[in-house]
Amino acid sequence: MELIVLTFEASYTRLPEMLWSTCQPTPVKTPKLIAFNTELAVRLGGDEPPDEATLAGWFSGNQPPPGAEPVALAYAGHQFGNFVPQLGDGRAVLLGEVVDPQGQRVDVQLKGSGRTPYSRGGDGRAPLGPVLREYLVSEAMAAMGVPTTRAMAAVTTGERVVRQLAEPGAVLTRVAASHIRVGTFQFAALHQDHAALKALADHVIERHYPEVAGAKSPYLALFEAVLKRQARLVAKWMGVGFIHGVMNTDNMSIAGETLDYGPCAFMEQFDSQKAYSSVDTGKRYAFSNQPVIAQWNLARFAECLLPLLDGDQETRVEQATASLRRFNDTFDLAWARISADKLGLAEESEQAAQMMAALEAQMQQGRMDMTATFDALTQLARQPDDERRQALLVLTTTPEALAPWIDEWQHQQQASQSEERWQAMRHANPVIIPRNHRVQEVIDAAYDGDFAPFHKLLGAVVQPFEASTEARRLAAPASDSEQVLRTFC
Ligand code: AMP
Ligand code: MG
Ligand code: MG
Repeated sequence: MELIVLTFEASYTRLPEMLWSTCQPTPVKTPKLIAFNTELAVRLGGDEPPDEATLAGWFSGNQPPPGAEPVALAYAGHQFGNFVPQLGDGRAVLLGEVVDPQGQRVDVQLKGSGRTPYSRGGDGRAPLGPVLREYLVSEAMAAMGVPTTRAMAAVTTGERVVRQLAEPGAVLTRVAASHIRVGTFQFAALHQDHAALKALADHVIERHYPEVAGAKSPYLALFEAVLKRQARLVAKWMGVGFIHGVMNTDNMSIAGETLDYGPCAFMEQFDSQKAYSSVDTGKRYAFSNQPVIAQWNLARFAECLLPLLDGDQETRVEQATASLRRFNDTFDLAWARISADKLGLAEESEQAAQMMAALEAQMQQGRMDMTATFDALTQLARQPDDERRQALLVLTTTPEALAPWIDEWQHQQQASQSEERWQAMRHANPVIIPRNHRVQEVIDAAYDGDFAPFHKLLGAVVQPFEASTEARRLAAPASDSEQVLRTFC
């Protein structure tokens, strides 16, 4: 057995210095390891984790792992539509990059590790609740096949963080393809530093999109590649009812991963205008607004890239605009595929998206729980009997309206059925998601010092397609009294 060793590299700090600042984590009082993702760490090299005290030292930042050269990254961003010129890692540091045995380079970041040059008025810390939420939700997303940053470790600090109340503090270790955001490009563009902008774009191409390096207009090709990944990502979110909650440009990863789990939530009762975040009072980031917001963010990205495109200003704007317009087609295609998978219909079926729209109307009108609905459909596709049909019909308040939809769906679905298609359907429809009330329950227990519910829920949500009886209990929709309608970051 070989001990897990993270061998750090630092390609980001070869970029111009305006994009980062050297910054050590601020030590915490009594670091205690609460979770460690051995499977993920092993993927980065080694087999056996060091002892818990060593891990707690590493992932609290008290004794950063050997070879780490921590830096905080600079970025700007549009927050709820308003441009903020100076954001940056205000409570996070990049420990360094690790190249896994497959040659994939990832960032290892501490979040909640103390003040940095970009902290503005903030304390640089993270409360335990949001750390546990990000751990659970990002690992659940990864298990569901949604591109996402991962959680490698969580450590409590033994210190208090003052928010609405004094809460226990924690540090999350996050692994990402990179932490480069639309906001990183906005920062370089804002400072009109052409060399920095070009170096950043070249770094992104080499690291995330090597296939565009040889294109006739590599930076336009980069834009289109990022657009494609973002469109597909948002379609995947919507397929599992995920609402990001803070789709600011500084939270949009250039690598196309879900980034920055704040007041995010999974939708329970289907409502296309659903927004949970306590700060999203205008519902800018509501469920069905997500594609249009992604496109808006991509327009901000395109603006940054204009100086790198060919031709005069007018030509550049025309090229970028033409590429931006492809967002809708890319998204629609991705959504049609996801719809076909979720409904167990043939991929080439043009009816899939229409059937999906009709089902969404049913779910909205009949106040149906989205995850339970698709799970029931999946079971009905497997075993089209009366019991399974009833199990679906009890989920709606308007069964008489849903019945004809079921008939039509069964007609189409049975025509294209195969084992392979059913497996695809099963893997598009999780049995269990981290429901808001369950996440809250786990956080409440942790605040009382009991982490067992966290580990139990984590164990269940990382097996989203196969649920034991216990997992089915955790999977059940919230009763009226259990519902959590507001989330906080
Ligand atoms: P977020 O809403 O988490 O995407 O954060 C927006 C910005 O606020 C980023 O620049 C963060 O680094 C910064 N920030 C959030 N919380 C803190 C904190 N406790 N201390 C310092 N900066 C913070
Ligand atoms: Mg610097
Ligand atoms: Mg952020």
